[in-house]
Amino acid sequence: MQPPAAIRALLQPDLLDQIILPYDRLLTHGRVIRGRATAVTQSEVTLEDGSVYPADYIVLATGSSYSAPFKPAGDSIADFRKVNADVSAKLATAKSVLIVGAGAVGTELAGEIAAARPDKIITLVSSDMSLFPMYPDKLGAQLKRKLERAGVSVVLGQRAENLQNLDMPHAGSIQLTDGRVINADLVFPVIGSRPNAVLARTLPRVTMTPTGRIKTDKWLRPSQHPNVFIAGDIADVGDGMTIVAISRQNPWLIKTLKRALSGQAIEEQKPYTPWKKAPILLPLGPKNGNSWMFATVGDWVTRQMKGKDLFISKYRKAFGR
Ligand SMILES: Cc1cc2nc3c(=O)[nH]c(=O)nc-3n(C[C@H](O)[C@H](O)[C@H](O)COP(=O)(O)OP(=O)(O)OC[C@H]3O[C@@H](n4cnc5c(N)ncnc54)[C@H](O)[C@@H]3O)c2cc1C
Repeated sequence: MQPPAAIRALLQPDLLDQIILPYDRLLTHGRVIRGRATAVTQSEVTLEDGSVYPADYIVLATGSSYSAPFKPAGDSIADFRKVNADVSAKLATAKSVLIVGAGAVGTELAGEIAAARPDKIITLVSSDMSLFPMYPDKLGAQLKRKLERAGVSVVLGQRAENLQNLDMPHAGSIQLTDGRVINADLVFPVIGSRPNAVLARTLPRVTMTPTGRIKTDKWLRPSQHPNVFIAGDIADVGDGMTIVAISRQNPWLIKTLKRALSGQAIEEQKPYTPWKKAPILLPLGPKNGNSWMFATVGDWVTRQMKGKDLFISKYRKAFGR
């Protein structure tokens, strides 16, 4: 499943058919095996069904979980579709929507709902004092203005104190730090990704960060095994938990592993360097939005680069569809 379009799919459920992608045509060289890895050593990976796959080099990229309905909670596509259909139906009839968390998912969700259903009362709450505080002020200030123009109330510097459920949208009455209470027909908890690091944690001498990611050496290796690497959302390498980060990590991994396979020691190769400040694209529906692409850019660039198509064509092509 392709997460960037999962937000709009809530308002446009037919998008799901385009973003749930089978892996059978992904690789031209190599095999995709469906199964859950339950054990990893320096030389092999074992799956739940007992099958064992030996390897000279191993990369763990077990990713992260997210509150429903934005990523599948398990292996069942039917369950994922059902949760999406349930939440879409609730969103369709909700008069008021409260979004708790104004990271990329919360901000885009507010923008998508406001663009598709301007009749709804939408509130976006963030514990930060501005949107995207790690980026130049202009990005967050312009996003806030655009959201407000679209009718979204943006509440900053407030935490939701009594979220009943962190995994699933629900109806509720949310108390903010300053005592204010907001009632909403649908409350979306969107407070970030949770790394799935159970498997990587079984490697010898790994160190976890407070956010649940795993630390690595300069070559993305988390343990004393010189041939086992990690990448993506589980890896704490100085990058955010984004596809943008992976788009930098993967080419480095491919180059490094190819050289290793032809005999060059990993330690002799250039270490991985994370993004200094990664670009970010934040559509607010198909037409508007703001992005930071080494400078703050507005509607047109955001629409062309992400808002119009949400990378759907790119992913479908990559998956051979
Ligand atoms: C709604 C939403 C929208 C997003 N939009 C963007 C965006 O526009 N741009 C951007 O840069 N980032 C975006 N992100 C973040 C992005 O989706 C993640 O950073 C990215 O998916 C992480 O990739 P990953 O490969 O590390 O992990 P994941 O995408 O989480 O993939 C991990 C895979 O490993 C599998 N797995 C886990 N454990 C095991 C196991 N033991 N055995 C076998 N398989 C296992 C999982 O089933 C899954 O298929 C978005 C996230 C969300 C939730």
